[in-house]
Amino acid sequence: MLKKYCAVPLLRKSELPNCGIEPALKMISAMTHEAQPYGKSPTRPALRPRCRENLLLRRVVLRLCALAAGRDEQIDAQLVQLGESMNRPGDNEALEHLLIGLSEVAGPLDEAPPIEAAMDCADGPGTETTCWFARQTVLQLLDKLVLSPRLQSSLNALSAGLSGCNSESEVVHAAEQLALLINQQAVELQNEQAALAETLKNVSAGLDRTAHHLVDEALLQETALKDSAEFNRHLQGEVDAIDSGVRKAANLSEAQGQVLARIRMINIVVDAFRQRQMTRLEETKERTKSMKLRVEELERETEALQESVRAEQRKASTDALTGIPNRLAFQQRMTREFLHWKASGVELGIAIWDVDHFKAVNDRYGHAAGDKALRVIARHLMRNCRSEDFFARVGGEEFVMIVRGLGVEQLMEAAERVRISLGRLGLHCEGSAVPLSVSCGLSLCHPGDTEETLLKRADAALYQAKRAGRNRCFLG
Ligand code: GH3
Ligand code: MG
Ligand code: MG
Repeated sequence: MLKKYCAVPLLRKSELPNCGIEPALKMISAMTHEAQPYGKSPTRPALRPRCRENLLLRRVVLRLCALAAGRDEQIDAQLVQLGESMNRPGDNEALEHLLIGLSEVAGPLDEAPPIEAAMDCADGPGTETTCWFARQTVLQLLDKLVLSPRLQSSLNALSAGLSGCNSESEVVHAAEQLALLINQQAVELQNEQAALAETLKNVSAGLDRTAHHLVDEALLQETALKDSAEFNRHLQGEVDAIDSGVRKAANLSEAQGQVLARIRMINIVVDAFRQRQMTRLEETKERTKSMKLRVEELERETEALQESVRAEQRKASTDALTGIPNRLAFQQRMTREFLHWKASGVELGIAIWDVDHFKAVNDRYGHAAGDKALRVIARHLMRNCRSEDFFARVGGEEFVMIVRGLGVEQLMEAAERVRISLGRLGLHCEGSAVPLSVSCGLSLCHPGDTEETLLKRADAALYQAKRAGRNRCFLG
């Protein structure tokens, strides 16, 4: 799920009222109604305290979000939205809406005893919620990051390990590991760039050689042309000489002698010319042969380069574990599909699938079994896609389908079919059945939608499906 949590600002626990959630919310609600957004007041000096108050209020709310987190899924969802609203000052309508929702879900919890979940991370006073938020933030980062296939498995392992983290130091360690992985990715990219630059250098050198060859060939042609003109002139001179010799000759035998002498000269000139032509022809043949070899070599290098670029593109957009398209491929496809929807108006829908209680599968059967389950689920979902649909793994145990041309009911029916059949897959691990189910959030493009709003609706629907008990499909 595209969970988003706010950052926790530095406000000490002692600065907060020591009361239940409900009174605290009432207090915030009252303060929020009083607060004026910066810039609405006519005089500047009066604005400053208001502005500071607004800032403080936002910090109080964010801190309260942190304090209240981990009690209940419903509250957490509201807190996430509240945290986001705090980072978008001025959206009072959304804020009021949220406060109503929060009051509804917080009331019954006020009397409830504190839940152990929030205490899992206890390293010391005041750090448990910070740890929880930090862990969620790093998990979200991991979820969105797409690394090269070689590093992706380390990223998945990091994600799996982090879900079980219960101390601040472990989260810090995971964040350091993440930084290392990103650096490794950067080094890999640099190496790839260097290899690419080297190949391009070779291709460029090859092209240089070919260009030189062409210049030489042109020079040769020019020499041949000059030689040919010179030969013609020579020949013409000999013919003219015969003509005037014959005219001037006193008798036939003198004329005959002159003609024979000139013909011998002509023979010599023709032989020399033919000899030069032959040499040039041989040279041209040789050059053409070596040029052909160079061009073939260049073609091979370019083809190899193109293939390696294609392979890199394939690798970069394929999920290493399941072999299906990854988040990067999904984002690219989503943009294309969205543009198509805008241009054609053909229905565009998405389905976000999230495996239910997948952490428990890992915990109970081990990570390798979890991986196997993910491969099986991916294969199953893939098989249930039509050829025109698109399907990708976009997070740990999260998949997305992009579906064209289905209306609400058809989309829902299709999703339900997939969900039910997946529940019947019957995956086994070491002799025991691994229970698998998925929840699904669906949404269809409406006028005015953006890619983001479409995804947000499907995500919210998925959240509803989870809250409603999982193993179901909801439309957002
Ligand atoms: P929910 O029904 O609310 O979705 O519960 P969940 O346990 O599925 O959700 P949660 O987000 O708590 O845990 C997801 C788990 O998925 C945590 C992580 O260990 C596991 N996971 C993520 N990526 C991988 C992976 O590549 N392989 C394995 N084996 N597990 C993974
Ligand atoms: Mg998930
Ligand atoms: Mg899940």
